[in-house]
Amino acid sequence: MKTNVKEIFGSNVFNDAVMKERLPKSAYKKMKAMIEAGADLDPEVADIIAHEMKEWAIEKGATHYSHWFQPLTGITAEKHDAFIDPQSDGTTLLRFSGKELVKGEPDASSFPSGGLRATFEARGYTAWDCTSPAFIKETPHSTILCIPTAFCSYKGEALDKKTPLLRSMQALDVQACRILRLFGKNVKHVTPSVGAEQEYFLVDKKKFLKRKDLIFTGRTLFGAMPPKGQEMDDHYFGTIPEHILEFMEKFNEELWKLGISAKTQHNEVAPAQHEIAPIYDQNNIATDHNQLVMETAQRVADEVGLRCLLHEKPFNGINGSGKHDNWSMCTDKGENLLDPGKRPHENMQFLLFLVAILRAVDEYAGLLRVSASTPGNDHRLGANEAPPAIISVFLGEQLEDVVEQLIDSGTATSSLVGEKYDPGVSSLPTFRKDATDRNRTSPFAFTGNKFEFRMVGSTQSISDPNVVLNTIVAEVLCDMADELEKATDFKMALHDIIKNTISAHKRIIFNGNGYADEWIEEAERRGLPNIKCMVDAVGEFVTPKSIAVFEKHGVFTAAELESRAEIMYETYAKTIHIEALTMIDMAKKQIIPATIKYQTSLAESINELNACGLDIDISVQTTLIEAVTKNLKAMHKALIKLEEVTKEAESKETGEVQARYYRDVVFATMAELRAPADELEMLVEKDSWPIPSYGDLIFEV
Ligand code: ADP
Ligand code: MG
Repeated sequence: MKTNVKEIFGSNVFNDAVMKERLPKSAYKKMKAMIEAGADLDPEVADIIAHEMKEWAIEKGATHYSHWFQPLTGITAEKHDAFIDPQSDGTTLLRFSGKELVKGEPDASSFPSGGLRATFEARGYTAWDCTSPAFIKETPHSTILCIPTAFCSYKGEALDKKTPLLRSMQALDVQACRILRLFGKNVKHVTPSVGAEQEYFLVDKKKFLKRKDLIFTGRTLFGAMPPKGQEMDDHYFGTIPEHILEFMEKFNEELWKLGISAKTQHNEVAPAQHEIAPIYDQNNIATDHNQLVMETAQRVADEVGLRCLLHEKPFNGINGSGKHDNWSMCTDKGENLLDPGKRPHENMQFLLFLVAILRAVDEYAGLLRVSASTPGNDHRLGANEAPPAIISVFLGEQLEDVVEQLIDSGTATSSLVGEKYDPGVSSLPTFRKDATDRNRTSPFAFTGNKFEFRMVGSTQSISDPNVVLNTIVAEVLCDMADELEKATDFKMALHDIIKNTISAHKRIIFNGNGYADEWIEEAERRGLPNIKCMVDAVGEFVTPKSIAVFEKHGVFTAAELESRAEIMYETYAKTIHIEALTMIDMAKKQIIPATIKYQTSLAESINELNACGLDIDISVQTTLIEAVTKNLKAMHKALIKLEEVTKEAESKETGEVQARYYRDVVFATMAELRAPADELEMLVEKDSWPIPSYGDLIFEV
C-alpha cells in the first residue's frame, strides 16, 4: 500500500485548519485572541471548543479523552475518561464540557514531586495548554483524544516538564522583544524554535525478551564485544534493510498522522542504530512531538517484531544515543535572530544575540551540564563518541574570524565567504561551499542559523535543556537591554557591549577537536568546568546563582528547584539499584549455572578421555577448565560483594548521600561483576550461553 502523505499528514490533529473549519467564527477569533494575549478563555468559548473537539474526535472513532501531561518521570502520563454521560432512561449521551477541557484533577500522589507535595495533599491539577494542539492517539486497541496539559500541585508548584518550559519561553520572549525594540523593530513575540534529532537502536523482539537487562533497565549489563564492532564505518548512512524500512514506513506514517514532520531518517554510526529528525517547530510543540516520537517508535517497533532501545548506552563499547537539540529564536514576523545573513560582520543585531548566547553559555555552563544529565548519559558524555562533559562553543571559521576582528580592533570589517566547490568534472555542478565546515565533537555548535546542543541524552525530555537555554539567554538579554535602554548613544553602546562581551567570554569558544586529551587540559587552564557525572552535576541546579536566575524570570521557585534536584538524586539511586538487582539476578540464575554446566562438561570430558586409557592429551581441556574456574570464582566473589553493597545502599540517607554511594560503590562493584562474566562469555560454548550475545543483538536484527 502506498501512502498518500498529503492526505494523512495532521489527520489526527485538532489543528488550526480544523478549528477554523469547525468552530463558529466568533469562537475561533476569541480563542486566537486569547492565545495571542496569553489570557484566560471565557467559559462559553471553552464549551464551544470542547463540544467541537469531542464531535471531531468521535468521528475519528475516539471513545475517551485524556489530559496528556509530562510528569517528572520524564515520560508522558494519561488518564482516560469516557465521553459518556448516562441518562435515567438507560441510554447515554456523549458529553465533553469546557470545564473538562480546561482543567483536570488526576489524583497525583504517585508522581514524583521531590517533597513538594506531601501525600496527604494529593491534589494535582492539569491545565489545558492551548498552544499545543490536541490530537488523537490511535493504537490497535484504543482511540483517545489527547489534550496537552500542564501539571501542577494544589499550591501551583510545577510538577511537570511543560510548565517551566512555557515559563522560560515567556521570559525569553519578553527580553528578546526588548532588544529588538532598541533596533527599531516592532515585533509582538519571539519564540524559540527547536528541532530534536533522535537516535535509537532497533533489536529483534525475541532476542530482547531473552535479556532481563534490556527488559528491566533498557541497557545490556553483560556482554562481550563481538568480533566486529563499528570500526568499518559501514553502517553509517548505509542502505537500510527491508524490515527496518517496514518499521520506518509505519513509524513515519504514525508521526505524519500526528502532524509531526518526520523528515530525515538514516542509519547511524553504530550497527542497528538509527536516527530520525523532524522539521523544527516552536519549542513547546517540538517538545510534545519529541515525546510522541519516542512513544511511537517503541510502539511501532513492537508491532513489527522489533524493540526500540532509547537508552543512552545500550551496549558498552559501541556508540550510544543522544539527542541533538537544535535551537534558534524566531520573531512573529518570521525573522530568525540567529541568521547571520551574507555579511555577519555588519549585522550588529545578529552579533548582539550571538555574544549574548556565548555569555549565557559561559556563565551558566553548569546549568547546561545538569540539564543534560541522566543516569544513562553518564556512560556517554566524555566517552569516545559523544561530546565531552566540558561545555564549549563551536562557531566555525567564518564567525570565529569575525569574533577575532572584534577582539583585536573593536570592529569587524569583513566576513569570510565559502570557496567555490569544483569537483573537477564538467558534468557535476559547481557551487559555493558553506563558509563553515561542521564540527562533530563540539557540545554546543553553531550550525549556520541555529545552535545545536549535542549533550542531551536520547531518553530525555527536551524540555530540560531548553528550559535552561531559554532562561539563561533571557537573563543575559535582560542585562544587555537594561544597559542599552539607558544609553544616550545607542550605536556606541551597542558596539561596546558586543566587543566587551566577546572579550570577556572568548574562553568558551573552542573550534578544535573536543575528543582530544589536550582539550581537557586546555579547558582546565581556561577555567571551564568539567563535571563528569550526573551526581556531581545535580548541585548546579540549586546554587544561589541558579536559584536567582530562575526566580528572577519566574521559571522556577527555589522550592521547585530543590524538588527537582531531589528527584534527580532519587532517579539516579533507583536506576542503579534496579541495575544492580538485575545483574545479581542474571548472574545467579543464568550465567553462573550455565558456566557450572559447561565446567562440568569439561570435567566429564577430561574424566572420559583419561578413562579410555589411550593417553590422550587433555591439556586443552585443563587449560579451559582452569580459565573457566578462575573467572567463575571472580564472578562469585563480586556477586557476593554486589549483594552486600546494594543492601548497604538501601540503608543510606536518601538524596545526595545515597546517590553518591550508588555511584562510588555500587556502580563500581557492578563493573567488577561484569568483567569476569564477559570473559566467560568468550570461554563457554555458544549454545550453552544463556543470553543472546552482542553479535546476535546488533548484527542479526
Ligand atoms: P544534521 O544531522 O546535519 O545536524 P538534520 O537535518 O538531521 O541535520 O537535523 C537538523 C535539525 O535542525 C532538524 O530537526 C531541523 O529541522 C532543525 N533546524 C533547522 N533549522 C533550524 C532552526 N533555525 N532552528 C531550530 N532548528 C532548526
Ligand atoms: Mg545534528
